[in-house]
Amino acid sequence: MRLWSRKQFLLLFFSFFCVISVCRAAEYEEVIMDGTVYKTAVYIRTVPENPRPAVLITGGVHGSEPAGAAAAEKMRAVEIKAGTLIVVPRVNNLALKANRRTLPEIEDVNRAYPGRKNGTPAERIAFEITGLIRRYNVSVVIDMHEALDFTYMDKRSLGQSILPAVNPQSRALAEKAIAYINTTLQKPHEKFVVKRSGPVAGSTAFSAGSPFQRRRFHSGNKQKTAAERTDQAACDDS
Ligand SMILES: [Zn+2]
Repeated sequence: MRLWSRKQFLLLFFSFFCVISVCRAAEYEEVIMDGTVYKTAVYIRTVPENPRPAVLITGGVHGSEPAGAAAAEKMRAVEIKAGTLIVVPRVNNLALKANRRTLPEIEDVNRAYPGRKNGTPAERIAFEITGLIRRYNVSVVIDMHEALDFTYMDKRSLGQSILPAVNPQSRALAEKAIAYINTTLQKPHEKFVVKRSGPVAGSTAFSAGSPFQRRRFHSGNKQKTAAERTDQAACDDS
């Protein structure tokens, strides 16, 4: 990882979580879709006496975008001083293994939100992720994707997404992070932009806790090496 990426990665993360005293985070794991071929791990790190805000990071929603999954995996190692960090690095595990956007029998997880308990595999996965958002009262969802271009250059191209819940605190949290990271990005086209149009039905942005109500901050492209894309996803989104 390049030095600037590491610096961005750490400082941006601290903008989500207030820096206080020493780390007393507790760690534990869950499995969603347990007992099925779609099962995938959830990694949770929390400071019990100060568990707010909660941030959920998802990667691997699309199996053909491995840098997002790798970046989410990196985020598991970040030390937190306050709040709760929930990471699902491999949302669509089978698709990642196949390096395909999804598999026909699964369908597109990013069109399946908020999901259904007894629906298609994609709907069941989305239902589980929605459950995490609600159970932990997540303030910000960071959905790590890859895109063919930066959103600044092509509005149809959506890469990493920062999705605050619709309340002033969550909005302020996301805006603080975006403001910081955009000051560190020299090239205008790499900066995060606010998407003001409505999200695609069934996407994470569509239903990440507040259907139709999440604002989106987007960046990303797929024109670099896998390592560069992973670094960028990590420092852009976290
Ligand atoms: Zn994607």
